[in-house]
Amino acid sequence: ALPLHVDPVAVETHCPYCALQCAQTLTSLDAPGPDGLPLLSVEGREFPTNRGGLCRKGWTSAEVLTAPDRITAPLLRDPAGELVPTTWDTALDRVAAGFRRAQERRGRDGVAVFGGGGLTNEKAYALGKFTRVVLGSRLIDYNGRFCMSAAATALNRSLGLDRGLPFPLQDLAGADCVLLLGSNLAATMPPFVQHLEQVRSRGGLVVMDPRETATAALTAEGAGVHLAPVPGTDLVVLLALVHVVLAEDLLDHAYVAERTTGLEDLRAGVAAWWPERAEGVCGISAQRIREIARLLADASPSRGGRGAYVLTGRGVEQSSQGTATVTAAIDLALLLGLVGTHGSGCGPLTGQGNGQGGREHGLKADQLPGYRRISDPADRAHVAAVWGIDPAALPGPGVPALELLGMLGTPDGPAALLVAGSNVVVSAPHVTAVRERLAALDLLVVLDTVPSGTAQLADVVLPILQWAEEEGTMTNLEGRVIRRRRAREAPGEARDELWILQQLAARLGHPDGFPAEASAMFDELARASAGGRADYAGLSHERLDREGPMHWPCPDADHPGTPRVMLDGFPTPDGRARLIPVVPHGPADDLRPDAPLYLVTGRLLEQYQSGAQTRRVPSLLAARPTSFVEVHPLLADRLGIEDGDELQLRTLRGEARAPAHVTGTIRPDTVFMPFHYSGSGSANLLTSDATDPLSGMPDFKVTAVDVIAVDAT
Ligand code: SF4
Repeated sequence: ALPLHVDPVAVETHCPYCALQCAQTLTSLDAPGPDGLPLLSVEGREFPTNRGGLCRKGWTSAEVLTAPDRITAPLLRDPAGELVPTTWDTALDRVAAGFRRAQERRGRDGVAVFGGGGLTNEKAYALGKFTRVVLGSRLIDYNGRFCMSAAATALNRSLGLDRGLPFPLQDLAGADCVLLLGSNLAATMPPFVQHLEQVRSRGGLVVMDPRETATAALTAEGAGVHLAPVPGTDLVVLLALVHVVLAEDLLDHAYVAERTTGLEDLRAGVAAWWPERAEGVCGISAQRIREIARLLADASPSRGGRGAYVLTGRGVEQSSQGTATVTAAIDLALLLGLVGTHGSGCGPLTGQGNGQGGREHGLKADQLPGYRRISDPADRAHVAAVWGIDPAALPGPGVPALELLGMLGTPDGPAALLVAGSNVVVSAPHVTAVRERLAALDLLVVLDTVPSGTAQLADVVLPILQWAEEEGTMTNLEGRVIRRRRAREAPGEARDELWILQQLAARLGHPDGFPAEASAMFDELARASAGGRADYAGLSHERLDREGPMHWPCPDADHPGTPRVMLDGFPTPDGRARLIPVVPHGPADDLRPDAPLYLVTGRLLEQYQSGAQTRRVPSLLAARPTSFVEVHPLLADRLGIEDGDELQLRTLRGEARAPAHVTGTIRPDTVFMPFHYSGSGSANLLTSDATDPLSGMPDFKVTAVDVIAVDAT
């Protein structure tokens, strides 16, 4: 066993789930759990994002460690089709031989890798290096493509930098207005709500969501405004807000002149989106659009306000026009002088625990560690030098996640796939097609802790560590690098992914370059990131243990880290942000006579991502045992549906079944399904696989659907 780095009785770490990365203390109890290892208790710990609080998922996170079906030995599919336990040597030999065979048949890209936004920075980095150096394949991407890619693309285009939130959450307390677009943070990351108390007391919280979510309810009683546009029209609302800011001359002229380019193009681009026209598309009244534009403008410092923020979530980003929508949100914030200034800001709320770090350290098809671009010769040379290879040997850009999944098992596509930290048969759109592609592979290797839906399809399953069993770092939604610490041994034969990659690399002819110690892998990551846009060069495990979490960029050991970025200019060639006009096209799968309703999907308080972990916590599962469909009472009347009736939903992609939950919190033209469930109630049986051409983000949020009671079929 590796030595514990801190007191094994009370270990300070962070929650395994979302990007708020709430601080926890894990304490070993005297009583052994079902696996014979000490049980852990969980307490919230004071930290800037959670201020001691945890949500239900965080409180119950230790129960995931002792899930009854935790995988504790490598599994190999036998001739009878069963997954049976085997030794590590046998499993690793089988994987290495399978990868070699796939590459003999299909070339370097005959093996692809699919990562996850829950992997530590060290593991994300190692997986990217393994793919590009050991396999020599360009085909790597991760499930963060389904989460943050639209926002990341928009931020990089407009500002030259994607650091998630470019400011610490505590800054929100000083604002007069927060415009929250498509985020149900009161359910997905409840401790966040503390940061909105002051703006609510000032009546300045504006929430845009087609549902009356727990977050939208925070605007009640004078705390703010809830906007419930027609699904898929968020971009039109934003274009109309930009139009009003320009038409009523509410912009920060000095800021726009000094720090941006493109004003006249933007002015022309939104000229036709006067509020009355937008009202006809989005359903928000022209008067309300003008009020919101003025509220936001009056909160901006240039007009005497305390400050204003524009924040985006998956509700507006998971769209085939997601990059355009976030771009419009950034345009709005730039016009008002909110970006790269003290006390105001604009940014996305990252969802997955290390969605930020994953995209910084090489899990994305187009990026190398340190947010370097894989197509940039200087960036390639820097990383190749750290990796000890010729830059010419470094593969070029791969393809976005959904495209990668679509290539699997095709005549020219990869014959083998390694999946680490993702459950694609639940979390990808149009999962029926994804299952077909996985079935066409010669070899599917899945690294997982439990038999997730994807693991159940694998030829080889390699058991890995849970968060409380590993060392490493995560980067939260504010670009704050934090330590994840080991509080207990792993059960059975479960092993660290870094060790697994080391063993596979050695079998594939690379005996060096893959340390199994997370601190050593972090030190290499820091060197690879040095001078890059996400610069970790001044960080180390030892420093983070000594000084606590720190924001990147942190270019040297004396640098204090950078809580607020872009204050002195934007990392673009001319130092200015770009105002970029965009054109709306509506949902790729819009309403039609045989699919007359909008299906929107989203998350629940009690569940996380594909539910592979949280559905194994009895109290969380009991709160929401099955999937369901939210239906407005008017729609229920029209369709003859009562609460609890089994419904059948049909889209162009497939069919699903789930019971009705009749509620007035949704629009009558829209139904909602949570996406955490597998089986016939899986929302992603229905979702569209159309993607945003700029980011590769699928159109998860809006799909045209037909809904009928099962009795009527
Ligand atoms: Fe905090 Fe998110 Fe964990 Fe809940 S799931 S405790 S909000 S980090």
